[in-house]
Amino acid sequence: MRIRYLPETLINQIAAGEVIERPAAVVKELTENAIDAGATQIDVQIRDGGKSFIQIRDNGLGMERDDLAAAVDRHATSKLHDDDLLHIEHLGFRGEALASIGAVARLQIQSRPPDSEHGWEITVEGGHKSAVKPCGCGNGTLITVRDLFFATPARLKFMKTQRAETMAVKDTVSRLAMAYPDIAFSLEQDGRTSLSLAPAGSSQDRLSDLLGRDFGDNALPVEAVRDDMRLGGYAGLPTYHRGTSQHQYLFVNGRSVRDKLLYGCLRAAYADVLARDRHPVAALFLDLPAAAVDMNVHPAKAEVRFKDPGEVRGLIISALKHALHAGGFKSAPAVSMQALSAIRPANEQGLRQPLSAPPPASYIQNDQVRAGLAEAAQNFYTPLGNLQPGARAEPITNPGAAAPAPDKEQHPLGAARAQVHENYIIAQTAEGLVIVDQHAAHERLVYERFKVQLAERGIEKQGLLAPEIIELSPEDATLLLEHQSDLSRLGLEVEAFGESGTIAVQSVPAILGQRLDIKSLVIDMIDEIRGTGESAALDSRINALLSTMACHGSVRSGRRLNAEEMNALLRQMEATPYSGQCNHGRPTYVELSLRDIEKLFGRR
Ligand code: ADP
Ligand code: MG
Repeated sequence: MRIRYLPETLINQIAAGEVIERPAAVVKELTENAIDAGATQIDVQIRDGGKSFIQIRDNGLGMERDDLAAAVDRHATSKLHDDDLLHIEHLGFRGEALASIGAVARLQIQSRPPDSEHGWEITVEGGHKSAVKPCGCGNGTLITVRDLFFATPARLKFMKTQRAETMAVKDTVSRLAMAYPDIAFSLEQDGRTSLSLAPAGSSQDRLSDLLGRDFGDNALPVEAVRDDMRLGGYAGLPTYHRGTSQHQYLFVNGRSVRDKLLYGCLRAAYADVLARDRHPVAALFLDLPAAAVDMNVHPAKAEVRFKDPGEVRGLIISALKHALHAGGFKSAPAVSMQALSAIRPANEQGLRQPLSAPPPASYIQNDQVRAGLAEAAQNFYTPLGNLQPGARAEPITNPGAAAPAPDKEQHPLGAARAQVHENYIIAQTAEGLVIVDQHAAHERLVYERFKVQLAERGIEKQGLLAPEIIELSPEDATLLLEHQSDLSRLGLEVEAFGESGTIAVQSVPAILGQRLDIKSLVIDMIDEIRGTGESAALDSRINALLSTMACHGSVRSGRRLNAEEMNALLRQMEATPYSGQCNHGRPTYVELSLRDIEKLFGRR
């Protein structure tokens, strides 16, 4: 006979390959066991990225002698009642983790239920199990894993750098800690404490502990219930974006998952307010009946399968959009903080200490000029006519800018006071000042108007008296003409004209106005079509095209605005959803509070 049954040790090693692919996976399995055991305090220590040493102590319910002996066997679990894989109420259920770890590493478990006189100890090294013997230990369970993968050296080669493994362990513990705010966690990496979390009052507190107050300040609450599904958590403002999806924490029934469907929901909800290569930050908790979700599709349970994916998607996307909408024209406070910290160093260096490097020669050339500067400075301190005590300074722009006193409720973006560098509007608000990037803001407004028109009665077209003839490369022309009907829906009518490569533009969207550069619009549209590709959903393709068109219709930076125009822009921003960021997720305005400004000047 050529076929033979594999020995148990080998079976375990093969199985271990699926569950335990790196140190962080060991930490995840053991920490989940501690949570399942009802622990209120879980302490994790690792050395060497977890390769040489992992230890986890919990104060949970512990194991008796016989349970301890069974716990390290494969497919032995206390957690699956009635053999029903559709009703999973614990984090574990496969009964594989301890057996897998024991197969590939040196595993030692000491455990003592709270009412026992002493504890019990067992070791498993490379699949060889010791007898259970009594030991002295505290209540709960202490698990030590040494020399991970010593029994399967091929695995070791796949380990990333120590730094990468260390970070993965921290990420794992953080995710579990987010899902269980009542439990205290600590993590020590190579003798250094990297997490120390007291039981938190709420999941919001725990999130701030882990993600920083910054996240709390830049996130919107998300809350939605549909039938017996519930979504809670926090979603970052669009301006608070990151370069990877690493900062998206998604939980299904208390279990951290990296599920494609859920990532897709975030992408879809933010598609309108974020550039394609940026990612929102979010922590979302989805709870639904155990029977509505299959947790058993992935050995490490990172992916799940929903019974009704459409419904889950609908709930999440609409809840996120709702939150973003309610956030309205809000821009991220983080942006203002960055602005302030950019101002501060200049102040501190310039006024409090001598500059460390000599100023550029073009500024101060000789003593004579220096003396001139001193004079100028002196003049500055001499009271000028309209700065006499009691006199009110007039707005810098024309008197028409003296808009009504800013009313916080009605006009949170305040009254326009000036335009500087032909692109930035300075407005005075009830509690500080706002700087608006007029181009970015206007682009957003045009985009939102496009969307409203499209939804209501189609985009209004402006026929051209004489068609605009544009020469393109034959490929570009073909690509453009393939999208003729989509573009026509968007108000841009193009036709083939004469020889291949030449097209005629018959009409353009009316919103884009008279001074439109039609050729550059057409070229940008071609780039956009090529960039988005056919794979994207029709909706998101249309929106991407609209967003590109909006850019062409916006007041360019460089255009002077009068006070009325500036105030009109501010009022429209207040009335327009998502106007806190441009179509690419950049902020359209920053707000500086008077308090912070006063701090800058040492008045507070
Ligand atoms: P699973 O968690 O899927 O049941 P494991 O191999 O991780 O499988 O654990 C096997 C069993 O060992 C668990 O079902 C549980 O009864 C017991 N166990 C493991 N870790 C602990 C712990 N920290 N405290 C108490 N019991 C534990
Ligand atoms: Mg387990």
